[in-house]
Amino acid sequence: MKKTLAALSSVIDPELRRPITELDMVGEINESADSVEVQIKLTIVGCPAAQSIERDVTKALTSEFKNVSVNMTTMTSEERDALKKKLRGDKPMRFNPFAQESSLTKVIFVGSGKGGVGKSTLTVNLAVALARLGHKVGLLDADIFGYSIPGLMGISQSPTKVDELMLPPIAFDVKVISIGFFVADNKPVAWRGPMLHRAVEQFLTDVYWGDLDYLLVDLPPGTGDVAISLGQLLPGAQSLVITTPQAAAATIAERSGAIGLMTGQSVLGVIENMSYFESAGAREFLFGQGGGEAVAKRLSELSQSQVPLLGQIPISSNLRESADGGVPIVDADPSDPAAQAIVEIAQQLSRLPRGLSGKKLGLNPI
Ligand code: ADP
Repeated sequence: MKKTLAALSSVIDPELRRPITELDMVGEINESADSVEVQIKLTIVGCPAAQSIERDVTKALTSEFKNVSVNMTTMTSEERDALKKKLRGDKPMRFNPFAQESSLTKVIFVGSGKGGVGKSTLTVNLAVALARLGHKVGLLDADIFGYSIPGLMGISQSPTKVDELMLPPIAFDVKVISIGFFVADNKPVAWRGPMLHRAVEQFLTDVYWGDLDYLLVDLPPGTGDVAISLGQLLPGAQSLVITTPQAAAATIAERSGAIGLMTGQSVLGVIENMSYFESAGAREFLFGQGGGEAVAKRLSELSQSQVPLLGQIPISSNLRESADGGVPIVDADPSDPAAQAIVEIAQQLSRLPRGLSGKKLGLNPI
C-alpha cells in the first residue's frame, strides 16, 4: 500500500493541480512485491482528464512494479461531495473568495476606452508572463459580448463541472474562464444588466480558482454594466488602462480609468500599445505619440496619486500572428520586442506586495 501511495503521490490531477492521493481519487489497492492492482476514482463520468490521469498512474506504478493493473471508475456522489468540501473548505455556496479582506489575491482589471486597442491580447500575455515568473494566475474574461480569450489562449475545451463547481481549463499554466466556453457555435450573447451581473458573479463563486496570486480580469471596452458589477463584486481590485498613442483613443481611455476610480479601484498604471513600428533600427510612430503619457497624467490628476505609464508595446506582426494562432507571444517568442516589453510590465506587477490592495505601490514611472 505504502509503496503504491508513494508512487501515486507524484500524479497530479491536471484540472485541480493537486496530487490524486490528496484528492481521495485512489480507491482499492492490491499490492504484492512485484504486482499492483489499483482503482482510480475520477470526479465525473467522461472526465476529460481521464486519459492523462490513467497514463500518469500507469507510468508512476510501472517504475515500481513489474505488473500493473489500473481500474478507472467514478466517484460516488457522497465521495464527490466530500471532495467538493475539501476543495472549498467550509465555505458556503455562492462564496466569493476574492471579496474577503483576508484574500491574498491581487485582482487586476484590464480596461480600455474602446475596442481594438489590444486589451485582450495584452491581458492574456500579461497572465502568461506572470505565470512564467512563477505566480499562480487566473484569467476571467468579462468581455461578455466580445469574448476572445478562449481563442487567444488556444482553448477549445469547456470547464469540467463537478456538480455546480466548475473546474476552469488551464492553458500556459493559467486558469481561464470565459462566457465563450458556454456559448455554442459563436452565438451572440444578448443579455441585460441582471443577467450579466449573475454571469460574472458565478464566475467568481462557482469556479474552483484555488489559491491565486493574481486574478486578471479582461473588462469589456468602455464603461458599462459589467465593469460596475465587477467593481462591486471585487472591491479590492486595481486597474490597468490600455490605450494607443492616438490622442482620440487616449481621451476615451481616460474615461474608462475614471469610471474605475468612481467604482473604487485605484489605477495601477497605464499601458500604451501599438506605440511604434521598428524597421531597420528606426521607429515609425504610425498612431502618433503621447497617448499613454497623457492618460497617465490625467488619471494622476483625477486620483491625486501617481499613476505611472508602465510600458510602451511596439507594433509586432509576430504578436498578432501568434495571437491568431492561440499562442501568446510571451510563450511563442519571448525574444520578440513586444514580448519583452510585456514581460517587463509583468515584472513590475510581480513586485507588488501580495494581497495589500489599496496600499501605496512601489511602482516606478518610466
Ligand atoms: P481589444 O481587446 O482591445 O479589442 P485585441 O486584443 O482583440 O483588442 O486586439 C485587436 C487586434 O490588434 C488583434 O488582431 C491583435 O492581434 C492586434 N494587436 C494587438 N496588439 C498588437 C501589437 N502590439 N502589434 C500588432 N498587433 C497587435
